[in-house]
Amino acid sequence: MDWEIVIGLEIHTQLATRSKIFSGASTEYGAPPNTQASLVDLGYPGVLPVLNREAVVMAIKFGLATGCTIARRSIFARKNYFYPDLPKGYQISQYELPIVYGGKLDIVLDDGTVKTIGITRAHLEEDAGKSLHEDFHGLTGIDLNRAGTPLIEIVSEPDMRSPAEAGAYMRKIHTLVRYLGISDGNMQEGSFRCDANVSVRRRGEKAFGTRTEIKNLNSFRFVEKAIEVEAERQIDVLESGGRIVQETRLYDPDRNETRPMRTKEEANDYRYFPDPDLLPLVVDDALIEEIRATLPELPDAKRERFMREYDLPAYDASILTGQRPLADYFEAVVKATKARPKAAANWVLGELMGALNKSGLEIGESKVGADQLAALLDRIEDGTISGKIAKEVFEALWNEGGTVAEVIESRGLVQITDRAAIEALVDTVVDAFPEQVQQYKSGKTQVLGFLVGQVMKASRGKANPQQVNEVLRARLDSSD
Ligand code: ADP
Ligand code: MG
Repeated sequence: MDWEIVIGLEIHTQLATRSKIFSGASTEYGAPPNTQASLVDLGYPGVLPVLNREAVVMAIKFGLATGCTIARRSIFARKNYFYPDLPKGYQISQYELPIVYGGKLDIVLDDGTVKTIGITRAHLEEDAGKSLHEDFHGLTGIDLNRAGTPLIEIVSEPDMRSPAEAGAYMRKIHTLVRYLGISDGNMQEGSFRCDANVSVRRRGEKAFGTRTEIKNLNSFRFVEKAIEVEAERQIDVLESGGRIVQETRLYDPDRNETRPMRTKEEANDYRYFPDPDLLPLVVDDALIEEIRATLPELPDAKRERFMREYDLPAYDASILTGQRPLADYFEAVVKATKARPKAAANWVLGELMGALNKSGLEIGESKVGADQLAALLDRIEDGTISGKIAKEVFEALWNEGGTVAEVIESRGLVQITDRAAIEALVDTVVDAFPEQVQQYKSGKTQVLGFLVGQVMKASRGKANPQQVNEVLRARLDSSD
């Protein structure tokens, strides 16, 4: 049977405000339990929420970056339910009138085609506290530090058709919120998490199938895997004559399966109503324009500019612009070096990213600064060192610090370009390998590579390879 998967994502992004959405308590991650919960976050009677302006600004930034309409008037609503990590008995969210709605985002698929995913809405809400099960035998601990942390919940249209598309969309949103500086996007700390709505239908069918919602996925890989196994499960159920129950499920990465968590509640189970403690949120054009003026260059625009301005292939440009600090690093190198931007891209994507990955560091923590990488490229460019020696210099810079000039000097790595010195090296090699020389002279010219290698080895990698080639060829082709 030919089935089609239909996916819509709800992404919860914690906003990078210093204080909470309705109280002055800090949002800093990692403090001892319950040290950052104010009376408002604890749901004490008689206290009143006060809206954090910065959270509103950040939500609007997201809306502007995704072509959403910014609601001039939006409403905070109470979503009522009981849970130990929600002491008020309701979560303040937005329901009928969210702050931003009706936008879109382009994703690039593996084959290079671009697909547009609709963004239904992004609404402001507060995070709940956290239940801690691990440290308490037979008991549950409650940490309310997270209660009241501002979130935007970004709801997509059911526009994705494969786990890979969902992964690409989630990555794109992640890149975007970090570009905008509205979230640190830290998935380990729960700043960026996703619920995946999944259904299947027979190809060609118009109506959507019944969906399930997989809660709280906190890695790109888990999102893709969870959707894949959930779709397989649904197809199995339908093919054996069963039907899908609309419910909330959890993904278990250890067993790579989804399990039911609870039956899906309907909106009316929550008894949403406008929060009487909060006035309607009114945003005027002046504020929107003020915020628009602060938007940075966005990932798509930057990628296209990198391709145009630096003549980079799409692949290089995509990776370099995937994180704003990486793009900044690359541009700093390009500005400071005489080498071609493509050479700079190769080094950033190759040696530098390799070293970062190996040591688990972010670009901001790189042990080789953009100025030194630029200096290194210049030394390759002006022939002081070969590309191969440059890798050795890079490694030394990474491990021991210092400058390019210092490393080249102290290790005696300057490339040998002196003709006489190279001729002397060639002489030794020609004497040492008479058999290979004979082979060359009798027409087996492919042996040249071996001899070049020997000369390079004799120079401990420092001879200019092009010159070695020339000198060796001249020597072998001469009649003696
Ligand atoms: P709810 O109010 O129950 O959360 P919504 O209608 O707001 O439901 O949709 C939530 C998410 O589910 C959205 O991202 C939407 O795109 C997605 N969705 C809705 N219907 C389907 C479906 N049949 N299959 C897959 N995803 C769906
Ligand atoms: Mg929902």
